[in-house]
Amino acid sequence: MLFSPYPKTKREELFDRDEELREIKHAVERGERLILLLGIRRLGKSSLLNVALNELPYPSVKVDVRKTYSEYSSVSRYAIGRAIVSSLEGRRRLLEELKDFLSRIRGIAVSGLRIEVSPKGFSLTELLEALNEYGERKGRVIIAFDEAQYLRFGGATRYDGIIAYAVDNLENLTFVLTGSEVGLLFDFLKFHDPEAPLFGRYHHDIELKRFSPELSEEFLRKGFEEAGVPVGDDELRMAVGELDGIPGWLALYGYIRTTRNLGHDDAIAEVLKEAKAVVGRELSRLFSYSPRYRVILKAVALGYSRWRDIKDYVTMKLGYINDSNFSALLENLVKSGYVEKTGGGYRIPDPVLERVFRE
Ligand code: ADP
Ligand code: MG
Repeated sequence: MLFSPYPKTKREELFDRDEELREIKHAVERGERLILLLGIRRLGKSSLLNVALNELPYPSVKVDVRKTYSEYSSVSRYAIGRAIVSSLEGRRRLLEELKDFLSRIRGIAVSGLRIEVSPKGFSLTELLEALNEYGERKGRVIIAFDEAQYLRFGGATRYDGIIAYAVDNLENLTFVLTGSEVGLLFDFLKFHDPEAPLFGRYHHDIELKRFSPELSEEFLRKGFEEAGVPVGDDELRMAVGELDGIPGWLALYGYIRTTRNLGHDDAIAEVLKEAKAVVGRELSRLFSYSPRYRVILKAVALGYSRWRDIKDYVTMKLGYINDSNFSALLENLVKSGYVEKTGGGYRIPDPVLERVFRE
């Protein structure tokens, strides 16, 4: 279903994105080792990743790093190893082929369709080496880290170092990293830091864009058609006017309208309600660091676009803050993708969140 409110996995459920899909496939076929899928939340990175992994003729493992982080409050190599291994579990044929490779790794024991990882002595590098050997037989193995910026919480484990080692030495692996918090992802990968392990490494960046207004309307039209719910052109236009071309909001709107039989206005109200809940979930951690984040977002949402004007607004609301502290907070919001810095100044790239922040 085009409007299903979960990340897509099948090609037929993914609207458009042919070009991006082709680009990923070609990059993998060419043997590229590091591919980044970038863009703010809800543009469809996870969906695109899932579909690409499904369509490519190579074995793959996928780790939802944000989920791993929220489960363990860290991303130890054990947690990541466990996550890699659990994405293999239950895949009988794959496991049978992999068993010999895996059982040679310290800290890993394969029994039937289950794989045990013991925190002691487990080496992620050895696991990658085993997957690389397997990849030699299968053409490649793809290792996907969804929301890879969370790998920065590795503590003693330096994932940038591990990825750099793999990119340099394990020629049958392709890493696909997605990131909603693009600035934080690049801070973590440090391609431009001569002291950093990934310095100067080639990476193929694929930036997801929002749908154009025409494409957005087309997406809605197709989705309503598929659901057998008639809808007028002006309503589609209004919906796109309010939700812009962000697939996640468009799909949610369509899902609400077709499953709950609501009219346009009520469906938009429900989308906003959900957006509010999303902000609560996604930003609560940030807001707990500093109440100023909320006020900065409000200022930008209200249309203050210059550094000085945003700062004045925050000062007026919450009192004095020095320039560099303020800059750091604003910069964090930019790096997380909630605020965008354009030629015209700062703005909120997501119109739905913008409305929520404005309140
Ligand atoms: P991201 O990982 O970038 O945050 P997701 O892949 O989770 O985005 O997509 C957000 C929502 O939007 C999901 O409900 C998904 O089903 C929907 N979606 C995203 N892209 C598309 C698309 N191209 N076609 C259909 N639905 C999409
Ligand atoms: Mg995602």
